[in-house]
Amino acid sequence: MRFADLVAWYDRIEATSKRLEMRSILVELLRATPSKDLPIVLYLSQGMLRPEYEGVELGVADSLARKAVVQATGASAAEVTASVRASGDLGTTAATLLEKRPRLDTAAPLEVEEVYAGFTSIARASGEGSQEVKVRTLVDLLNRATPAEGKYVLRFVLGTLRLGVREMSLLDALGVAFADGSKEARSRIEAAYNLSSDLGHVAATLASGSLDALSSIGLEVGRPVRPMLAERATNLAEILERMPEGAAIEYKYDGLRVQAHIPSEGAVKLFSRRLENISAQFPELVADLPRAIRHKPAIVEGECVPIDPETDEIRPFQEVSRRRGRKYDLDKIQDEIPVCLFLFDTLMAGGTSVMDRPLPDRRKELVTLVRPTDRVRLAQQKVVHDVEGAQTWFDAAIADGCEGIMAKSIAAGSSYRAGARGFWWIKYKRDYTHTLGDTIDGVVVGAFYGRGRRAGGYGALLLATYNPEEDRYESFCKVGGGFDDATVAGLPAKLKSKEVAERPKGLLTELEPDQWIEPHFVLEVRGAELTLSPIHRAGVGKIRPDAGLALRFPRSTGKWRDDKGPTEATTSDELVTMYRAQVKQAPARPAAPES
Ligand code: AMP
Repeated sequence: MRFADLVAWYDRIEATSKRLEMRSILVELLRATPSKDLPIVLYLSQGMLRPEYEGVELGVADSLARKAVVQATGASAAEVTASVRASGDLGTTAATLLEKRPRLDTAAPLEVEEVYAGFTSIARASGEGSQEVKVRTLVDLLNRATPAEGKYVLRFVLGTLRLGVREMSLLDALGVAFADGSKEARSRIEAAYNLSSDLGHVAATLASGSLDALSSIGLEVGRPVRPMLAERATNLAEILERMPEGAAIEYKYDGLRVQAHIPSEGAVKLFSRRLENISAQFPELVADLPRAIRHKPAIVEGECVPIDPETDEIRPFQEVSRRRGRKYDLDKIQDEIPVCLFLFDTLMAGGTSVMDRPLPDRRKELVTLVRPTDRVRLAQQKVVHDVEGAQTWFDAAIADGCEGIMAKSIAAGSSYRAGARGFWWIKYKRDYTHTLGDTIDGVVVGAFYGRGRRAGGYGALLLATYNPEEDRYESFCKVGGGFDDATVAGLPAKLKSKEVAERPKGLLTELEPDQWIEPHFVLEVRGAELTLSPIHRAGVGKIRPDAGLALRFPRSTGKWRDDKGPTEATTSDELVTMYRAQVKQAPARPAAPES
């Protein structure tokens, strides 16, 4: 496939803000893509080179990309700088400058495969001389590129391609392009994606056969499964009502979710909740797991929490988050902040998938599978049949330093549902002194300049929930409280790379911040209550036409949810459920509009 054709579709996608229109352009694009190019097109359109879990990064700095533009267009560095200042984007600048440059008629048109190969060699280049390799590869591509192609090449390598194409839209489009577009087809495609976490692979499998071909996609050690998620409840009685056959109540450890893949031979791989490979951050778990797991290959899940080595007590979550993203002194920090992985589920044991078996069977497998060590243990669990039993166990969890409990269904259908949120698992956290017991994980979509002590930086952030049905973000609060001075001082630097000139695609809000921020960062907040709002758009129309939900008196808890991607933030529907639960608890409270 010609790269020029692909970028023509990208131009059309970029020009639309309507979801349905975007979907039909994507359907056309997928249908027109030869099957050998399908995986590539799927990755590229999301701004990636490989599925996210492989963690392949291009690593092209702005200065390096400018160098390539200078060399390919013959413009001076000063001209490039001036043009970027005017256009705000090196991609647009490259297109303008390429337009002026005489293009060799003999230059063969770029194929998508060639561009992809170029990007891949840029990503692979490392060590001495790698900068030169990157510049040379970029220049080679730009020399053959049309202005429109050059624009996208640069945006891609700089990570500023913002087509707004997310997984949900691609899953919809795949269902229409390669099946009958029905709900059933969509859910089978999504199931294959939840198992493989690789849209390129799913698309290629679909294109090579029919929907039935998807059944060839199964569990594979080394390839993460999208995690099963929990709903929430406001009290223990509600949990037992939903689980009449009894509930397996587990401690809810406050740490990082880890999916561990233990092969028969070779290195253990650890994946975070958002499927990043985090093996390097926890060398002691990588070392201990092969000893702790009796029957390999296996895939197990647990929560990694910091532990006091002297007393064996659980320490606060913030300590383990310091270990994430750490690249140096890993040995030192391993002793400073020791961790323990509390395993709560198994997806594969001794090479056999056990995902489809009910929870009590999986727990039995897990108990036989695990030989506990200092670093790897079983999550505490007890099956209860009444509220009193659940309450006793909940109190024990809090006393042992956990944030609450996870109640899990033990019914016949309680299989492991990859990527799905449902009442098979219900989280119930300790009700702090706040009216609204639970926290909300909001996506940062904008920032407001600070005043007074915060002058010169940002004073507040605009947060949004994610709405997966519409594949869009919906604002629910402006939060300025709860930040410590160091966090406030660090906000401009933290947000810098995600600042965008225009409102991000697929964002609903009636509030205009001083600076728009591309959805990326997830912040945990608490508040007094949820109210109906004419300004915020979370769950708009679900309770009352034209009104969205807003969080009153929001405060940051200080916890950046780096383990969650923007689409894994609290959903608009969850907020609606929380609102309804709150109304049930306090029916007399008037729902005053709130900004
Ligand atoms: P939340 O992040 O608040 O949505 O709560 C769900 C998270 O709780 C999961 O993704 C896990 O990381 C964590 N968790 C802690 N203990 C358990 C457990 N026993 N079972 C399942 N998840 C747990």
